[in-house]
Amino acid sequence: MEQTKYLIAGCSHAALSALNSIRMLDQDGSLTLVTKDDHLPYSPTVLPYIVSGQSKPEKVKLRDDEFFAQNKVNFISGAGLSTLDVDNNSVTLQNGQEWQYEKLLLATGAAPAIPPIPGLTDTPYHVLRTMDDAVNLHAALESAKSAVVLGGGLIGMHAAENLIKVGVQVTIVEMRPQVLPGYFDAEAAKIIEQTFIENGVAMRIGNTVVGAAPDGEGAKVSLDSGDEITADLLLVCTGVAPVISYLEDGPVETDQGILVNDCMATNIANIWAAGDVAQAVNFYSGEKSVGGILPAAVEQGRIAGMSMINDPAINPYPGGVPLNTYGFFGNQAISVGVSDENALPKDTEVLLNVNEEEMTYQKILIGEGCLLGISGINTDFDPGIMWQLVLQRVDLEPVKEEFLSNPTDTGRDLMSRTWR
Ligand SMILES: Cc1cc2nc3c(=O)[nH]c(=O)nc-3n(C[C@H](O)[C@H](O)[C@H](O)COP(=O)(O)OP(=O)(O)OC[C@H]3O[C@@H](n4cnc5c(N)ncnc54)[C@H](O)[C@@H]3O)c2cc1C
Repeated sequence: MEQTKYLIAGCSHAALSALNSIRMLDQDGSLTLVTKDDHLPYSPTVLPYIVSGQSKPEKVKLRDDEFFAQNKVNFISGAGLSTLDVDNNSVTLQNGQEWQYEKLLLATGAAPAIPPIPGLTDTPYHVLRTMDDAVNLHAALESAKSAVVLGGGLIGMHAAENLIKVGVQVTIVEMRPQVLPGYFDAEAAKIIEQTFIENGVAMRIGNTVVGAAPDGEGAKVSLDSGDEITADLLLVCTGVAPVISYLEDGPVETDQGILVNDCMATNIANIWAAGDVAQAVNFYSGEKSVGGILPAAVEQGRIAGMSMINDPAINPYPGGVPLNTYGFFGNQAISVGVSDENALPKDTEVLLNVNEEEMTYQKILIGEGCLLGISGINTDFDPGIMWQLVLQRVDLEPVKEEFLSNPTDTGRDLMSRTWR
């Protein structure tokens, strides 16, 4: 059996962030990174550009072999975690190797959740989460002229835009009443939907797919409205679920994801979890929830690594504050924190500024004097600063008017005073 001091499962944002934290204080401790993927690390967020051909797989590496050599990292790709034996502090990989660890980080992320649509398993479909998914989808475009995308979340919207840009006729089917719920409210989503329509995407919002079947080389989906859509390609982007199958029936506590405390430690000594796989405290509710966004994966990975190395500078994880910047057809949408006041207490102050002609939109949500969320389309505010204001619950009362008329400068000023 092979031995390593630190074993990290996964090689994406959470894993690499933990690696950084560990190497800050321990440059020599043996460190092994094992990942299911057969590629050097990349961000899943670039995959739509691989699909369209705008980016090439070899150009989007987050780290390369030289980095691993310099940082004394033993990088094993194409060999995911298969089983975990917590009594023996060891894991078995899909390639049959066995590794014993002193400290283990589970950063295995999330994988597409496939909805139980009758007929779907017999129908050819694509998903988009890994580099191989993107490369396969890119190859399929050679003969595809039309696509139906199930799901109007971030992944489906990114993919749809990149498909239409290479000349594929696209229909998005979203069962909820708006696209991008959780990131933007219904009004902002309308602006985004309209832009997609103007760019030739067919939008079937509020429609549920009730059946799927093969149609020649392609697929046919049936909607609850009775309509049927046929397409050369079917892309299923209906959500993701944490990858935890290797923990089945074991003692590591899971719910939707792996349950962790505010240092990303699981209930088992010497095992941590971070990123999309983890179920950590939610900033707003205090309950534990799975996240699914990149900044949270980076932050959780950073804290997990610090905890693994006993870094005295560690601060507990305060909970994730969503931060998304979303570009679509040359427009820029940003959402920080909560974007829908319906998810907040009734006395939340809502400040809305919409200019349909110029296609600008800005919404600020304030509760108990603090910023709870800010979202905008084609408006100018610094998402990093806004993120800090929410996270640090900075009191806006004394400067509220200035903040509402100029969030960026007022936010910067406030933060510079906080940091001083
Ligand atoms: C198309 C797309 C667009 C996105 N856009 C945005 C966006 O705009 N903003 C945003 O905040 N987020 C976005 N996301 C989500 C974001 O990519 C994730 O939140 C982030 O990648 C999570 O990082 P992670 O390290 O937790 O997991 P992942 O990135 O999911 O990585 C998991 C890692 O674990 C490995 N792995 C899986 N199973 C095993 C196993 N059994 N053993 C070992 N290794 C394993 C994988 O190979 C991979 O290296 C997007 C995702 C996609 C797919």
